[in-house]
Amino acid sequence: MSMKDLKKDFPILERKVNGKDIVYLDNAATTQKPNQVIEAISNYYKNNNANIHRSVHKLSEEATAAHEGARKKVGKFINANEREIIFTRGCTESINLVSHALRLKKGDSVVSTTMEHHSNIVPWQLLKDKGVDVKFVGINDDGTLKIDEFEKLIDDTTKLATVVHVSNVVGTVNNVKEIAKICHKKGCKILVDGAQAIPHMEINVKDIDADFYAFSGHKMLGPTGIGVLYGKKEVLERMEPFMGGGDMIKEVFLDHSEWNDVPWKFEAGTPNIAGAVGLGVAIDYLKDIGMKNIRKHDDDLMKYGTEVLGKIEGLKIIGSAPERIGAISFTLNDIHSHDIATIVNEDGIAIRSGHHCAQPLLNALGLEETARASFYFYNTKEDIDKLAESLEKVKKIFA
Ligand code: PMP
Repeated sequence: MSMKDLKKDFPILERKVNGKDIVYLDNAATTQKPNQVIEAISNYYKNNNANIHRSVHKLSEEATAAHEGARKKVGKFINANEREIIFTRGCTESINLVSHALRLKKGDSVVSTTMEHHSNIVPWQLLKDKGVDVKFVGINDDGTLKIDEFEKLIDDTTKLATVVHVSNVVGTVNNVKEIAKICHKKGCKILVDGAQAIPHMEINVKDIDADFYAFSGHKMLGPTGIGVLYGKKEVLERMEPFMGGGDMIKEVFLDHSEWNDVPWKFEAGTPNIAGAVGLGVAIDYLKDIGMKNIRKHDDDLMKYGTEVLGKIEGLKIIGSAPERIGAISFTLNDIHSHDIATIVNEDGIAIRSGHHCAQPLLNALGLEETARASFYFYNTKEDIDKLAESLEKVKKIFA
């Protein structure tokens, strides 16, 4: 089956926007959902809905099995044990979980990078109140990381280094395996923000040797409100809980409580059961296509997009790292990106504009905002051609 045929599985992609066939190029923000995922969520609510873990009745057993079954699927998908998979609300919550549960204290430090999404900067800044220092690895003009700075910035005080696997702005693929080696050699743990990597490539957390790997379901065909934190079992076992409440405890006394086993120790309260079910089915769907096929298609689109958009006079593609995937950021003459996005929207084309929740990265590149087209396997070369055509119109309007 060709990738083009798969488009039929996505009802929203049959929509018209402003009288035109929709061209959805905002996949780095969120991906669309196939019928299989939509139906799995609906089916769960129609047939199996109950609260999990706490009852012996049939529906509760089924809901628990569905939730834990999804955990198994996630584990297999990234080559982890299911007990190393914590369900969260999304990548942002996964990172916040680590920032809280490590219980860093005065004198400790964290090393992050200038390339990060705000969700991998702000949670660490919030620790400054506690006297935790945060340091940032810089970037080169081509949108690659100054990897040797990890070596310099990580010192005896560094408890964790954190890095984005794939940039949501410039598409750079970072060599996280090499960075993990540096971190471990220097004696700190590493958290990888995989939000933009997991939709496009095979992820093997064991091969990377990541201590933590965080991502969101909604960027990989799953619903919003469900995400994952992978953590090495021995690391999770040594961590304190994140939030307190039901399900994360074994026993509660008035003066203290005893924590549940990993991963449930980190899942307080009723979780997003339907979300986990939807994410499990999204993973089935991705596996059916094959992550290698998705990678190849998305690499081809990136190459084609770079070629076609690069030919537009006045258009500047931001970042030229040797390995990029998923997203092309650009400026067009001195036209504001919001104007670009507004005008192409009239042609039914959805792109993103602004700072993409990565202001430090844009500032380091001497920019405040860009337009961004981001692709997924249901996008075609024609989608890029349509964007290029529409961008010529934008130029005419501002000529
Ligand atoms: N990290 C990266 C690289 C991202 O692109 C995003 C989402 N744009 C996030 C983290 C945060 O994801 P979420 O909003 O789903 O928690």
